[in-house]
Amino acid sequence: MNHSPAHLETVVREIAAEMAVRTDRGKVASYIPELANVDIDAFGIAVIDTDGNVVTGGDSDVQFSIQSISKVFTLTIALGMVGDHLWQHVGREPSGSPFNSIVQLEREEGVPRNPFINAGAIAVTDVILSGHEPRVALGEILRFMRFLAQDQSIKIDEKVAASEQRTGFRNAALANYMKSFSVLQNPVEYTLGVYFHHCAIAMSCRQLAMAARFLANKGRDPSTGFQVVQAERARRINAIMLTCGHYDGSGEFAYRVGLPGKSGVGGGILAIAPGKASIAVWSPGLDDSGNSHLGRIALETLAKRMGWSIFGA
Ligand code: GLU
Repeated sequence: MNHSPAHLETVVREIAAEMAVRTDRGKVASYIPELANVDIDAFGIAVIDTDGNVVTGGDSDVQFSIQSISKVFTLTIALGMVGDHLWQHVGREPSGSPFNSIVQLEREEGVPRNPFINAGAIAVTDVILSGHEPRVALGEILRFMRFLAQDQSIKIDEKVAASEQRTGFRNAALANYMKSFSVLQNPVEYTLGVYFHHCAIAMSCRQLAMAARFLANKGRDPSTGFQVVQAERARRINAIMLTCGHYDGSGEFAYRVGLPGKSGVGGGILAIAPGKASIAVWSPGLDDSGNSHLGRIALETLAKRMGWSIFGA
């Protein structure tokens, strides 16, 4: 298998060209009204290998709503704050349920299955919030993203945050339900406010791939050598991305792509080829599980042509 940067460039160019002409683009999420305003024809890809080569295609510098991809970074922050105590608030098993499902919570006494379904991410946000003002907690999350991406311009899209705050009845139900089991410690409106705002961070594929380089490189930022998390923690975050990163489509994603990945309803997917590359793709049209339709196909193609599946080429 050819792993050269030149081959990677060819593959990324091919993928961008192939995705541009596809007509099966899925459906843009509209349950957060502001997300419905994006261009369904957009497609971006950025790949940063562990030697620091950056290869991009399509709309790789257009910022989009990262939504649930932010949950990879909030999980990283919460683990840094409380370590394994986090697992008292949230599990780490795949849910097999849609991203916003409430049914499991009743059976499992308010403890969400994993940090990537909405309920689990709200519980993780609650841990980050503890002892802080909401704007301080949010500032921490944003600072972490800017630090990892080496880009101070990354911002929260306030319109998207306000749009979800107005319409996030399902998330409010999940949060209140967890609160009734004392799984959440802070006032529900504070936790939800921070959650909606970190989901509304806007980033490009290039910025996202930059921010996740530590996950491809044993916890270390390859450009500075800074150890963001221990290698063992990076490995475990990748494991949770593989098993839980695509909701009830996680098995299908592992089967087709074979890489740890986390999707967001803004149409982005962050994927990690451990030891090889950090990858971000974006196409706003979603499949029935709420994952980017062309994003998944682009990653499947990339993994196949580069021989990057963790299960073998
Ligand atoms: N903010 C979105 C929600 O809570 C995130 C969902 C997603 O990206 O999958 O519904």
